[in-house]
Amino acid sequence: MCLFCKIVNNEIAANKVMEDDNFIAFHDINPKAPVHILVIPKIHVESFNDVSSQMMADMTHFIQKLVGHVDIKTSGYRVITNVGDNGGQEVKHLHFHVLGGAKLRWGHFTDADPKDYL
Ligand code: AMP
Repeated sequence: MCLFCKIVNNEIAANKVMEDDNFIAFHDINPKAPVHILVIPKIHVESFNDVSSQMMADMTHFIQKLVGHVDIKTSGYRVITNVGDNGGQEVKHLHFHVLGGAKLRWGHFTDADPKDYL
């Protein structure tokens, strides 16, 4: 069973922020911003490659509620999902990173020079 399925099954503790029948939001154990919350479906889905349109619609609604709940809706935030090796996905259970609470940096994501690919 994967790490996040264990959180769903309460076999591993998580610092939960919000939960409904289909999704859980909990604080990332290694935060990269003042607010760094992970949103996962309770059903095991490996990555964004495999998510259904219906689940995305429901998860969007859940995240919109979450950002209001943690008071970053108007100050701004970023929603990221890493996919596969190049995307840097470590946990193979779909999750969205919700980052905020301070001005977030934006910059190069790779050592490869993007201009070489123009
Ligand atoms: P990713 O690299 O996109 O797969 O992100 C996985 C994230 O899960 C990382 O930001 C980790 O810090 C986080 N993480 C790993 N284990 C736990 C845990 N037990 N509780 C909360 N967050 C975790």
